[in-house]
Amino acid sequence: MYDVQKIRADFPILGRRVNNRPLVYLDNGASAQKPRVVIDAMTKAYEEEYSNVHRGLHYLSTVATEKYEGVRAIVARFLGAPDPDEIVFTTGTTEGINLVSYAWAAPRMEAGDEIVLSVLEHHANIVPWHFLRERQGVVLKWVEPEADGSLDPQKVIDAIGPRTRLVAVTQMSNVTGTLVDVAAICRGARERGVPVLVDGSQGAVHRPVSVPDIGCDFYAITGHKLYGPSGSGAIWIAKDRMKEMRPFLGGGDMIRDVTRDAVTYNDPPMKFEAGTPGIVQQIGMGVALDYLMALGMENVAAHEAALRDYARERFRGLNWLNVQGDAPGKGAIFSFTLDGPAHAHDISTVLDQKGIAVRAGTHCAMPLLEHLGVTATCRASFGLYNTTGEVDALVEALELCHELFA
Ligand code: PLP
Repeated sequence: MYDVQKIRADFPILGRRVNNRPLVYLDNGASAQKPRVVIDAMTKAYEEEYSNVHRGLHYLSTVATEKYEGVRAIVARFLGAPDPDEIVFTTGTTEGINLVSYAWAAPRMEAGDEIVLSVLEHHANIVPWHFLRERQGVVLKWVEPEADGSLDPQKVIDAIGPRTRLVAVTQMSNVTGTLVDVAAICRGARERGVPVLVDGSQGAVHRPVSVPDIGCDFYAITGHKLYGPSGSGAIWIAKDRMKEMRPFLGGGDMIRDVTRDAVTYNDPPMKFEAGTPGIVQQIGMGVALDYLMALGMENVAAHEAALRDYARERFRGLNWLNVQGDAPGKGAIFSFTLDGPAHAHDISTVLDQKGIAVRAGTHCAMPLLEHLGVTATCRASFGLYNTTGEVDALVEALELCHELFA
C-alpha cells in the first residue's frame, strides 16, 4: 500500500516551514527533494569511503570505485537495460544530449541533413541541435503539438524524410506534462532506419521505463529530478550507436595509452567519461534509484495519476484559471495563467507567501510557450510525496491571487 504520509517522513525538508507556513513543494519538475537515505549515503561516502575512483590501488579507492561503478548496474536495472556497460555517466540530461550531439551526430551529419524535433522540447534537447545547424548547416524540422498539448506520434514519423539522420524527442513535457508515445515514434523511425534520442528527464521520474520496450537508441536521465543529487545523471546508449561514437571530452580515465604522438582510448562507457567524475553524486543517484524501485514506479505512477485527476477536478471550478495543454493521459504537471493582469511572477510570489513553491517563467521551453501564445506561465509540478491536501492549499492560494489581481 502506498502510504504517502510515511513516504513524506523520508524527506527531511518536507517537515520545514516556509514563510511561517508548512512547505508545499510543487516545483518537482525543476528539481525534486531528497530522501534521507540519499543524504545519509552521501554523508557516509564523504565521511568514510571517499577517494578518487579507478586509478588508486589503496583501500579507499577500491571501495569508492566499487560503489561508484555499482551504480551503472542500478541505472541499467532502473531503465530495464540489459547491460551496465551501455550506461554512460553524465552530470545530467543536458550533458547526455550534448554528448550525443558532439560524439555521435556531429561527425556523421552534413549540410542539409535533418533532425526531427517536437515543439514540446526543453532547451536541453534544442540548443545542442542548433549548434549543428549553426556549424554544419543541419536542418531542424519541427513537429507541432495538437490543440490539447498532445503530440501525434504519426506526425513525428511523417516528418522523417530521406535526409533525416535523427529524431530527438521528449517522453514528457516539463511544461504541460504531455506524455509522448515514444515507443510508437521509435517503431516508425526504425522502419525508416533513423535512430531516436529520447529525453527521459521528466518521463523516467513518473512511471516505469524499459528502454528495450521503447526501442530507442539514446535515453537520457538526470539524477536531481529522480530524488537524487544535482550533478548526477546518465545516458543509456545502444551498443551499435556507442560503437559509432567518437570521444567528446578528452582527459584522464577515458584513455588506454597516451604518447607524444598518439592516443588510444578506453573501452566504452569510460571512453566517454573524461576526468574525475561526480563520484559521490552518482553514488547518491544510485541510492535514489534503489529507493524509487523499492517504492515501485508503477505505484508512483498511480499515486501521481490520482493527484493529477484531483487537481484537474479542483481546477475545473476556477473559470479564470487557464491550464495550458491539458491532454487526458498526461503527467501531474500543470502550467497555467490567470485571467487579468497578473504576471506569472506575481502569482508565484503570492503563492510563496503561503509556503507554496511553484516555478514561473518560460521553463526552458521558449518554442513551446510561443506555440501556446503565452510569454510566461506558473507551473505546479507534483511528485511522489505530494498530497491532495497540497492541491487544496494551492487552489486556496490561487483564489486569493484571483481576488488580488482580478
Ligand atoms: N529535458 C527536460 C524535459 C527537462 O525538464 C530538463 C530540466 O528541467 C532537462 C531536459 C535538463 O535537465 P538538466 O538541467 O538536469 O540537465
